Amino acid sequence: MSYQENLVEIADIQAAAKRIYGIARRTPVLTSTTVNQITQSQVFFKCENFQRTGSFKFRGAYNALSQLSESQKQKGVITFSSGNHAQGIALAGKLLGIPTTIVMPENAPKVKLTATRGYDAEVIFYNSQKASREELTQNLAREKDLTIIPPFDHPHIIAGQGTTALELIEEVGELDLLLICCGGGGLICGCGIATKSLLPNCRVIGVEPAQADDATRSFYSKTLQFVNNPDTIADGARTRSLGEITFPLVLKYVDEFVTVSEEAIIRTMFFIWERMKIVVEPTGVLAAAALLEGVIKNPGSKIGVIISGGNVDLKEVGKLFSFYLPEN
Ligand SMILES: *Cc1c(COP(=O)(O)O)cnc(C)c1O
Repeated sequence: MSYQENLVEIADIQAAAKRIYGIARRTPVLTSTTVNQITQSQVFFKCENFQRTGSFKFRGAYNALSQLSESQKQKGVITFSSGNHAQGIALAGKLLGIPTTIVMPENAPKVKLTATRGYDAEVIFYNSQKASREELTQNLAREKDLTIIPPFDHPHIIAGQGTTALELIEEVGELDLLLICCGGGGLICGCGIATKSLLPNCRVIGVEPAQADDATRSFYSKTLQFVNNPDTIADGARTRSLGEITFPLVLKYVDEFVTVSEEAIIRTMFFIWERMKIVVEPTGVLAAAALLEGVIKNPGSKIGVIISGGNVDLKEVGKLFSFYLPEN
């Protein structure tokens, strides 16, 4: 086995579960009779929209930050993200007394900015036309001696995200399939490792927007593929590619990748809001869309579905419904 493939193991995920115990929420597993009827299966939704900060990102962030050295903790951490990773890092830093700096584009949505600042993070803006956020982050980290915490390509982040599947399996036991959305691959790698260690016969299936199918192409061609500024409503899956660490783990722990259309994502979000009475974000429903839209069919089986987050600007998404779901 290569060094990369060994970077995260079930023991690391179990250790992460201990670190986040009593701090991260143990999120509920929901079921729906309607969904079971539609799919002719027993479906279990692990609902990370109920996680602190509204997505699973808090798990990895807290696991990573709590393992820094005392001197790293004192100096602080930095990350670039306008999304859920920023909020996860900001809250983890606040709880652990670690100063956090978040590099965000000038035009970041106000809700995200307010949420991040609400957790006492220092926000530094950049002009996405002029500056590269990676370069800016690296320069700031060097100047101020801050530790960079990337959103997915880090063993402690991956192990933290894996606690999502660990909890689901502890609660529901045997599963035939587990459906997981994929952006940069932190969630699917952590959950894939947990699943294959505890339930070797369970198939792990990755789901991406068809408009941002880089991981699907990378998986089937076994060569890292990219996508640039993909036009998908699922903003958590707009990452350019899998990472150096996540790519080999995806090849090892994932059995299959599928994609879903923008219409499928929006129909599914609407369905989950209405039928399950929970607020979910577009990226959060990717895995559910593969099942509810019939891309994945496996009647008579037990299926786990990870709902990854619920941070959505309802005013913005509401506008899309009339476009994608015209009344008929
Ligand atoms: C970050 C994120 C993803 C993608 O996770 P990766 O670890 O980058 O694959 C999916 N859904 C939500 C809600 C996210 O915040």
